[in-house]
Amino acid sequence: MDRNYSIETKCIHSGWNPGNGEARQIPIYQSTTFKYDSADEMGKLFDLEASGYFYTRLQNPTNDAVAARIADLEGGVGAILTSSGQAATFFSIFNICEAGGHIICTSEIYGGTFNLAGVTLKKMGIDCTFVSADATDEELDAAFRPNTKLVFAESISNPALVVLDIERFAAAAHRHGVPLIVDNTFATPVNCRPFEWGADIVTHSTTKYMDGHAVQVGGCIVDSGNFDWEAHADKFPGLTTPDESYHGITYTKKFGKLAYITKATSQLMRDLGSIPSPMNCYLLGVSLESLPLRMERHCSNALAIAKHLQSHEKIASVHYPGLEGDKYYELAKKYMPNGTCGVISVEVKGGRESAVRFLDSLKLASIATHVADAKTCVLHPASHTHRQLTDEQLKEAGISAGLIRMSVGIENVDDLIADIDQALEKA
Ligand SMILES: *Cc1c(COP(=O)(O)O)cnc(C)c1O
Repeated sequence: MDRNYSIETKCIHSGWNPGNGEARQIPIYQSTTFKYDSADEMGKLFDLEASGYFYTRLQNPTNDAVAARIADLEGGVGAILTSSGQAATFFSIFNICEAGGHIICTSEIYGGTFNLAGVTLKKMGIDCTFVSADATDEELDAAFRPNTKLVFAESISNPALVVLDIERFAAAAHRHGVPLIVDNTFATPVNCRPFEWGADIVTHSTTKYMDGHAVQVGGCIVDSGNFDWEAHADKFPGLTTPDESYHGITYTKKFGKLAYITKATSQLMRDLGSIPSPMNCYLLGVSLESLPLRMERHCSNALAIAKHLQSHEKIASVHYPGLEGDKYYELAKKYMPNGTCGVISVEVKGGRESAVRFLDSLKLASIATHVADAKTCVLHPASHTHRQLTDEQLKEAGISAGLIRMSVGIENVDDLIADIDQALEKA
């Protein structure tokens, strides 16, 4: 799509440009296989000599249209969709790091990523060093080892709401000859485009704002095409030396800027198979059309609620990077000047009991572990995700007993504030 179009236009038109008499909306190719007229034609596809569809585990037209839309939104050269955000994170790492390798991750990342990096990847022979997103350049430099293959971080972390200094992290990664991968789930490309600040690869859990209606679980990997794998060929032999499982193809030589994303499709998807269904991709594609409108409302609602609660007598503290005075306000202004996300965290006075009474008294906002969809939902870490911890242990984990995570939806903000106020009265 024309690079000059604004993001609002791209969300609606990128990836699908119907010709005369063709479907207005991206069609659902709910088919596992694709038919060919000659054996030779099909053979060329297997050799990666021609492009085309033959089996949905590798590629499907519905999935590809939606992937192309997201690639365009991020300003990347190519993208693949995966069956979950977790699969996207795993593939994005495993595509360039195998047993014997080492990665660096920010410690404030999503819990699922924390487990994947700290426990499951370790079982596969990949070591991880966690560093704070607030780490100094010296601390960052000290985390690198000769076998480090990448740095992984979140643009806005879930649920801590830490904003990443993308330029600084990209510079550190590049000083050590490795790419920076940014999970851009919470900000979405509408509010933040990490490639513009030096990130090399972006991942998403499309389950969150991109979907926005809690209807599908999915993920996405986008490549900027900017990282020079050949310049660090010894670190990335999977991309820069022949792949014996593909008749000796060398991805960087044959695919240039598309080397990383082509390998992820033709090797990892082929062997590990974590594809989303065409139906799910279709739902995602439809949702993306309204993403800019929804993000605008999520952010304005969240900011209004954050401001309202900031001076509320029953509230001890409010954390929201869009709120002036927040620790991450300045970074948020730089990297996401039009808004951050709809998630805020608030600490209710009176600890655990007050927080529980507040939650139980809400009428409009629902109690759910999900975040980032149209409906406002709340979660109390001390009684849900972290319920096995004592108040002492909670404190050590940086979570107070009265802390509530609120994923602000796109309802009318006055209705939401009225609901919060009546529930706080009972807290
Ligand atoms: C939810 C989430 C994930 C995991 O995505 P799933 O689609 O649930 O597998 C990864 N990163 C972030 C930031 C998330 O919020």
